[in-house]
Amino acid sequence: MTVATGRSLRSSAELIRAEEPVLAHNYHPLPVVVARAEGAWVEDVEGRRYLDMLAGYSALNFGHRHPALIEAAHRQLDQLTLTSRAFHNDRLAAFAESVAALTGLDMVLPMNTGAEAVESAVKVARKWAYEVKGVPDGRATIVVAADNFHGRTTTIVSFSTDETARAGFGPFTPGFRVVPYNDLAALEAAVDETTAAVLIEPIQGEAGVVIPDDGYLRGVRKVTRRAGCLFIADEIQSGLGRTGRTLAVEHEDVVPDVVLLGKALGGGIVPVSAVVARREVLEVLRPGEHGSTFGGNPLAAAVGSAVVELLETGEFQRRAREAGVLLRDGLSALVGKGVRGFRARGLWAGVDIDPALGTGREISESLMREGILVKDTHGSTIRLAPPLTITNEDLRMALGTLESVLRKGA
Ligand SMILES: *Cc1c(COP(=O)(O)O)cnc(C)c1O
Repeated sequence: MTVATGRSLRSSAELIRAEEPVLAHNYHPLPVVVARAEGAWVEDVEGRRYLDMLAGYSALNFGHRHPALIEAAHRQLDQLTLTSRAFHNDRLAAFAESVAALTGLDMVLPMNTGAEAVESAVKVARKWAYEVKGVPDGRATIVVAADNFHGRTTTIVSFSTDETARAGFGPFTPGFRVVPYNDLAALEAAVDETTAAVLIEPIQGEAGVVIPDDGYLRGVRKVTRRAGCLFIADEIQSGLGRTGRTLAVEHEDVVPDVVLLGKALGGGIVPVSAVVARREVLEVLRPGEHGSTFGGNPLAAAVGSAVVELLETGEFQRRAREAGVLLRDGLSALVGKGVRGFRARGLWAGVDIDPALGTGREISESLMREGILVKDTHGSTIRLAPPLTITNEDLRMALGTLESVLRKGA
């Protein structure tokens, strides 16, 4: 029997207990069970409301259930949801055109999750190295940065430097070189005639919102151009408005050869990712060489097109810049009052809490009890990434709650 209000029949505590024996333990979520959401706010099973200051790791840049995105999804659900790429569908051309135009690149390879976009880019870069650059078969290398996060597949964890992500999952895929992030000399020393690509995050999200020095991205562009290899920017978390620009590389006016999109591209509704690249790069793929049953499905394409339409207005990038000033000012005022330091760009911040006040986890739990949802990254760092639709009032409230939690200690 269903309840008219749509409320769950079991309490939060019961639902958390029910997960334990049947759900893989690869996550350690905060003890909140969300049942409904709208905009920047979510509501748990008991009807308690929380301000969502994580936004699905930027998958919810437009907030929960943005009306334009929900409408696009509903409209498409009533028409066509899946064809596979065995046939064309009437949504894909417009989606690819809009993503290419948004990024200033030429061609789009639609996939589903972020990790799939990264995997696909690794394959494309290798093939490009053999066919276009002339690297001897089987010798292509890809240079990546330490403390990267690009996803969870076996190949991707092969070039992770996080032991928790790797331990027990070998043997690993060869062909990667790791250099320190934000170190152009090390990058320069690592690229050679075997290098297919340099793959980096313009801002390292999972590492704690680590922003490289001004000029680093321009430097990466120069080094890759000189070495005749591809510059692949993983904008899966940093892209699509989060930093106050459509892409984070725009802060340095850099155009990579390949841009990876995901997370917010699906509007918080369906997984949608894409490898976007210059024609010369994506052209190396020919029929049968790569694919995905769900990649480019009409529902994903309709939602993804609606996401691009929202971004074309520039409204969300502007909001991220304006509210970003509030966020930065609010955090600056907390330095020395429980905050050791922070890094912020647009509506995205990594905040290092004084470890004496508690771990990032403990601070996150205290904030949760006060109605604010955030996530810790490493040690005593928490990450703030609210929906770009958050109001100034809600953002001020969140900063005020952070201040009081820090004053009391976790
Ligand atoms: C989240 C993320 C990924 C992986 O995306 P999934 O959809 O979780 O596979 C890759 N790169 C970056 C920078 C990310 O933040």
